[in-house]
Amino acid sequence: MRIIFATGNEGKLKEIKAIMGDLGLEIVSMKEAGIKADIVEDGKSFKENALIKARTISDIARGELIMADDSGLVIDALNGEPGIYSARYMGEDTSYDIKNNAILERMKGVEGKDRSARFVCAVATVITDENGERKEYTAEKTFEGVIADRILGANGFGYDPIFFVPEKGMTSAELTSEEKNSMSHRGKALREMKEIIKENIL
Ligand code: IMP
Repeated sequence: MRIIFATGNEGKLKEIKAIMGDLGLEIVSMKEAGIKADIVEDGKSFKENALIKARTISDIARGELIMADDSGLVIDALNGEPGIYSARYMGEDTSYDIKNNAILERMKGVEGKDRSARFVCAVATVITDENGERKEYTAEKTFEGVIADRILGANGFGYDPIFFVPEKGMTSAELTSEEKNSMSHRGKALREMKEIIKENIL
């Protein structure tokens, strides 16, 4: 048995290999599995979108263990924006420098605890058998922080340079990848999914 991870993102694949490696299953991308699909992410939540991605691939690759994730940044003072639209905020092709500066601008005048935000990650695993019967499992975790008052740090990606982690006294773009994986939304959700797979599938 192997895991096909429904992503084209090499960074995510590296992270999931680091976390799930000890399951003893081969972990491959859609591309490596030779699967191409147009996935319409029209869910209303991270969990729904992760399930939509995993189900779409699972319908094509019956009998295989398909895993997908969906994640984003939720800012309380902006009514949860950018949320499930994090990758598409201000347009998919707009740089994160522009996205991050726009958020800092919108957060001007918001002080202290009111700057609370979290990264959220939902992971879905789906196996569809030959008769179309599905087994589905989900895990969702958060990484709590506040929006910084300026851009800081060069590690990570996306919104990391404006995500301040109070426990560490720095942004998630200043953490090493090991430090970030140990406390991040994706790290925690993937580790929970690993336990779900051990208990229910292996
Ligand atoms: P997805 O690939 O559809 O899950 O989109 C996730 C989007 O959420 C990314 O493109 C980033 O904008 C944002 N995001 C999710 N996790 C992180 C993170 O750990 N750091 C920074 N940005 C993140």
